[in-house]
Amino acid sequence: MGDLHNKSVAQLAAMLKNKEVSAVEVATRFLARMGGNPHNAFLDIHSEVTLAQAQASDDKIAAGIAGPLEGVPIAHKDIFVTQDFATTAGSKILKDYRSPFDATVVSRLREAGMVTLGKLNCDEFAMGSANENSAYGAVTNPWDTTRIPGGSSGGSAAAVAARLTPAATGTDTGGSIRQPAAFCGITGIKPTYGRASRYGMVAFASSLDQAGPMARSAEDCALLLSAMCGPDLDRDSTSLNVAKEDFSIGLMQPLQGVRVGIPNEFFGEGLASDVRSTIDTALKQLQDQGAKLVPIALPRTELSIPVYYIIAPAEASSNLSRFDGVKFGHRAKEFSDLADMYEKTRSEAFGDEVKRRIMIGAYVLSHGYYDAYYLQAQKIRRMIADDFQQAFSQCDVIAGPVAPTTAWKLGDKSDDPLANYLADIFTLPASLAGLPGMSLPVGFGESGMPVGMQLIGNYLQEARLLNVAHQYQLHTDHHTQAPGGAA
Ligand code: GLN
Repeated sequence: MGDLHNKSVAQLAAMLKNKEVSAVEVATRFLARMGGNPHNAFLDIHSEVTLAQAQASDDKIAAGIAGPLEGVPIAHKDIFVTQDFATTAGSKILKDYRSPFDATVVSRLREAGMVTLGKLNCDEFAMGSANENSAYGAVTNPWDTTRIPGGSSGGSAAAVAARLTPAATGTDTGGSIRQPAAFCGITGIKPTYGRASRYGMVAFASSLDQAGPMARSAEDCALLLSAMCGPDLDRDSTSLNVAKEDFSIGLMQPLQGVRVGIPNEFFGEGLASDVRSTIDTALKQLQDQGAKLVPIALPRTELSIPVYYIIAPAEASSNLSRFDGVKFGHRAKEFSDLADMYEKTRSEAFGDEVKRRIMIGAYVLSHGYYDAYYLQAQKIRRMIADDFQQAFSQCDVIAGPVAPTTAWKLGDKSDDPLANYLADIFTLPASLAGLPGMSLPVGFGESGMPVGMQLIGNYLQEARLLNVAHQYQLHTDHHTQAPGGAA
């Protein structure tokens, strides 16, 4: 029982079901590990709420009416609104904000029986690649606390890696599940756009935002994703009308004959040599297990950066107009009139990166520039999606790096927004196309930091990605490694 915090979601679910351990015992163990808030991963904790939920799970288990993940703890990125915990989106403008309802993803995981440990730190409004844009301080990487955990779901990745929680939710607009998962040596998946409801997710760029699970293994991600996804047509107009799926079913399929597409553009000059050689070894492993590597082309990969950094800020500038000091959140104390109140509220409470994006977004949408920037970007976005369809005529999944390097040092890129943007190059294409993508740990780079491999699938092919990742994880042990002090 001494190593409860090292158990997987699947193991905990089984132990709870068999009454080998109680939900209150499990929750108590994780709450103890969260004490002192290691890595600054959490933004809100209420142990009495967590323990009450755990007690309710124990009652359900005793009554024989347990959900599939009854009593297993999870923590949520602070982008999901929650009734029982504050929701800040990492921003000062929502300091102490309490939502009157739970996000669909949160309530679905509760219905499956999961117990909420708290809310996890993230970049302000999920804008960032290093978690250094949080108004509540940076998160540190459990593998090396002088380094960033990745972003924007940095708190989620750090908490799972440090065994503060067996699982977490994240959101991915341009890589925010995959990249922090890679940097912290855990597994994470962003499903097809529309699979998971956006209801109750604080909006950043609505045509890109997707929720997904982060855990240690593909097997655990499959369990979590099965509970999270499913239509929510009344509440999210972009929710897909696709029936709930059990993503665990296909995990055991062997890799024999699976065609893995290798995009030439993902292995160019910008890729650090240690990341490259680690990915090469992982691809060799897939080959040894029967997969076939197929060279493919994604010729517009480089364009995904300018395209994303036009479309995402455009949507953000519109979404964030709701934070005006009237409806909710922070309001400036002193002001002369309404316009002054708006201006002071927003100047005081938005961080630099958020302001930068609001300005870029307003600019690219403005009269005279709309055609030159926004419309062009939309056209290229379509071509990027078409390139993927071309590629998927030759392969079943696409594999490559998640990021050009391993996690960098805190502060290294914090004054250089462009350097942060460039590091998103391999995650943005799948986001722009709305395709499912995942990251799984495949080894360590020169600095001893984890390296993640990305798998991209065609629309609704999450099960295939999880299958490939699970088969890889059955033959390797990277996903079982714990950072020093966490085991
Ligand atoms: N790093 C990207 C950005 O800063 C992606 C963020 C995300 O996926 N939420 O916008």
